[in-house]
Amino acid sequence: MTEQITVIRGDGIGPEIMDASLRVLDALGADLAVDFQLAGLAAQDETGELLPQATLDSIERTGIALKAPLTTPVGGGFKSLNVALRKHFDLYANVRPAISFRGSMSRYENVDLITVRENTEGAYLGEGAFTAPDGSRAESKMIATRTGCERIVRFAFELARRAGRKRVTVVHKANILKDVTGMFLSVAREVASDYVDIDCDDMIVDNACMQLVMRPERFDVIVTTNLFGDILSDLCAGLVGGLGLAPGANIGEKTAMFEAVHGSAPDIAGRGIANPCALLLAAAQMLEHMEKHDKARRLRVAIGDAISHGDRTTPDLGGQGTTETFADALCERV
Ligand code: NAD
Repeated sequence: MTEQITVIRGDGIGPEIMDASLRVLDALGADLAVDFQLAGLAAQDETGELLPQATLDSIERTGIALKAPLTTPVGGGFKSLNVALRKHFDLYANVRPAISFRGSMSRYENVDLITVRENTEGAYLGEGAFTAPDGSRAESKMIATRTGCERIVRFAFELARRAGRKRVTVVHKANILKDVTGMFLSVAREVASDYVDIDCDDMIVDNACMQLVMRPERFDVIVTTNLFGDILSDLCAGLVGGLGLAPGANIGEKTAMFEAVHGSAPDIAGRGIANPCALLLAAAQMLEHMEKHDKARRLRVAIGDAISHGDRTTPDLGGQGTTETFADALCERV
């Protein structure tokens, strides 16, 4: 059945990887009707607005967005549109799988874990609390609600159960940040008692960083707060060959948005060498979400096969191919 999705081509390397990804999805026979919408710098150029109402309306209507990266100025300038979109649609669960592909540029071979990051609270909700006019002092706060903690932990356990995963590790800093991450941990322990079929343990975030580097294979599903999840999931991307292979889904009750974990990569934008795999792996998550399981599996197998043969892969994977030649190799395999 043809399903409508909203597509945002983004900026920087966004349009390059999105066009290549749509070509692969077409070859796969994903049967998607695409509603192109604008956001970010491209929207500002064309409409004068960073996040036009038409884009929000389209996502509201389709319930699914496939989004390429959007540039956010560092320090000053406008606030992150990615964060704004997550807030607007209450996309509270950020699901970031990190799975080893043979032939990628990683020192690890057996990583197969999923980070579930709380996406709407924590340190990112309390940004902008106070900056002194003379710039001498700035404050921000962390926010957690019981409801927010409970729904993300429950989401992680449900995902673990659906995906046949064995263990959920709760990552926190409840020894120091006792209020916010302490609440996260105690709610997580309560929720865990409803899932006796899945092991649950917990770990302080600093230890989790070390353990991830020393023994990544001990992890299965990680559930954690917003800031820790943001950082840990990039660490996990590093374990499996870098940001070019790291996808992320942002899931709410009614709406879901799928994207690469990486940004707009201004350093390589326009050179035609960006790896489209992170966005394509996000598209595989989208196909799962739409219950097109066979298509998702075929797409992942094609990516794994092309990488393990080094067939026309991009430089970040050690190849000499381009975004386009890599997409050709994938089109031939799906
Ligand atoms: P980045 O992820 O864009 O790039 C980091 C490094 O990884 C760069 O060297 C880049 O060349 C490389 N890289 C990233 N994606 C790649 C790909 N597909 N193929 C090959 N190499 C790739 O991080 P950054 O430079 O810190 O951020 C650039 C901009 O992106 C910033 O404005 C940031 O706010 C934004 N950003 C957006 C999102 C999003 O839209 N979800 C996420 C992260 C960062």
